[in-house]
Amino acid sequence: MERNWAGNRVYAAERILRPRTPDEVCEMVAATARIKPLGTRHCFNDIADFEGGAQIDISGLATSMEIDSAASTVTVGGATRYGELAPVLHAEGFALANLASLPHCTIAGSVATGTHGSGRRNQGLASAVSRIELVTADGQLRAYTRGDRDFAGVVVNVGALGVVTRLDLDLVPAFEVRQNVFDGLPWDALLTRFDDIQDAAYSVSAFTNWANDTVDQVWLKSVGEPRTDLFGARPAHGPRHPAHAAGVPADNCTEQLGVPGPWHERLPHFRLGFTPSTGDELQSEYFVPYRHAAEAFEALRELGPRIAPLVLCSEIRTIAGDDLWLSPAHGGDRVALHFTWHPRQDEVEALLPAIEERLAPFGVRAHWGKLFHHSPTDEAWPALGRFRELRNRLDPNGAFRSPYVTRNIG
Ligand SMILES: Cc1cc2nc3c(=O)[nH]c(=O)nc-3n(C[C@H](O)[C@H](O)[C@H](O)COP(=O)(O)OP(=O)(O)OC[C@H]3O[C@@H](n4cnc5c(N)ncnc54)[C@H](O)[C@@H]3O)c2cc1C
Repeated sequence: MERNWAGNRVYAAERILRPRTPDEVCEMVAATARIKPLGTRHCFNDIADFEGGAQIDISGLATSMEIDSAASTVTVGGATRYGELAPVLHAEGFALANLASLPHCTIAGSVATGTHGSGRRNQGLASAVSRIELVTADGQLRAYTRGDRDFAGVVVNVGALGVVTRLDLDLVPAFEVRQNVFDGLPWDALLTRFDDIQDAAYSVSAFTNWANDTVDQVWLKSVGEPRTDLFGARPAHGPRHPAHAAGVPADNCTEQLGVPGPWHERLPHFRLGFTPSTGDELQSEYFVPYRHAAEAFEALRELGPRIAPLVLCSEIRTIAGDDLWLSPAHGGDRVALHFTWHPRQDEVEALLPAIEERLAPFGVRAHWGKLFHHSPTDEAWPALGRFRELRNRLDPNGAFRSPYVTRNIG
C-alpha cells in the first residue's frame, strides 16, 4: 500500500509509473487516461492521488543542475529536491532567495502547491521560476517563459496541467543567515507591533497554540546583525523546536543561537538528513491579506480553547504578494497561519470548518497541499476561472482531472 509522508492517506491510485527518460514521460502521459504527478509525498490531502488512475513519479529521470552564472539562473529537473540543489548553488556562490521550513520536497511539487517560507519581502518559492517545461495530456513537451501569456497560470498548477520535467529558477548571491529564537512574546506586542516584528529580520516565524498567555516563540532569521531584544520577549538560551512548548526536542532543527551559517542551513527550520517537524502529525494552513493580520489573530485566539488540545504548534509567517494565478499570495501580501496538528484526523477535520468560518470575512485561502474543508471559491481566488479555462485547453479530456482537481478547480 502506497501512502503519503504523514501516513494519513493510503493512495487510491492503482499503480505508479516510473519513466527513466524524457521520451518515456511523453509516451506514458499520452497513453494514460487518468494520471497525476507524484513528488516526495509531503502533502496531507489527496492532491497527489488519482483514485482508479495512475501516479507518475519522475525521480528516475537523470537530473542535472546547470547554473548560468551570467543570467543568475539554474536549470533543474522537476524531481530535484531543494536540499540537493542548495549546497550545489552555495558552492558556486549562489542562493535561492528563500526556502520552506523543510528542504526534503521536490521543486516541481513545491512549486505546484505554492509552497512558501517567511519574510515580509520574500515571495513564495514559485516566484523564483522563470521558465517551466511540462508534458501535457497529449504527450507534448511545452515550455513557458516568464512574460508568456499563460506563464502566470502554469507555474502553481496543483499537478492539474501536466508533468513538470524542468524548471529555471532565479538566483541571488549566496548569503549568511543567523537564527535567533525569542521566548514569550506578549500577545499585545504581536497585535500592535506586527509590522515592526516582521521588519526585525529577513524571515520571521512566530509559534503559538492560540491559548497561552504569551506567543511561545519568535524565530528571527537575520541577514546582517541580529536583534538582541524583541518587544518584551526573552532571548532563548538553548536550541528550540517549533513545538518546544509541547516538549519536542530540537535535535532535527537547523542551528540557532545566532551562529552564522549558509542560507540553506538556516532558512529551513529542519535539517535534510533528519525527519522534518515531528513526523507524527497532520497540517493545515490558511492565508489572509496582510492588513487583516491582527483581526485574524484575534479570531483564532477566540477559538484557542478548541485549537490548543489538538495542535502541536501553530506558526505565523508572512509572504510577499505575487501575480501567479493559484499562488496563495496572488494579488498582495499575505499572513500565513499554519497548524501542525496531532494525528487525530477526525477531530482536526471537525474543527477546520470553524476556523475557516472565522477567517472567511478576510477572504481566506487554504494551502493546496494541507488539510482544509471548504473548496476554494472564485471570490477568494480571483484567477481560478482563468486557470480553469487554461486547464480545459491543455487537458480537454480530463487526463489530470483527479477527484481533488474536480472538487477544487472544477
Ligand atoms: C514537515 C513538513 C513541512 C512543510 N513545510 C512547509 C512550508 O514551510 N511551507 C509550505 O508552503 N509548505 C510546507 N509543507 C507542505 C509541502 O511543502 C508541500 O505540500 C509540497 O507540495 C510537497 O512537495 P512534494 O514533492 O512532496 O509533492 P507531493 O506531495 O508529492 O505532490 C504535491 C503536488 O505537486 C504535484 N506534483 C509533484 N510533482 C510534480 C511534477 N513533476 N509535475 C507536476 N506536478 C507535480 C502533485 O501532483 C501534487 O499536486 C510542509 C510539509 C511537511 C510534511
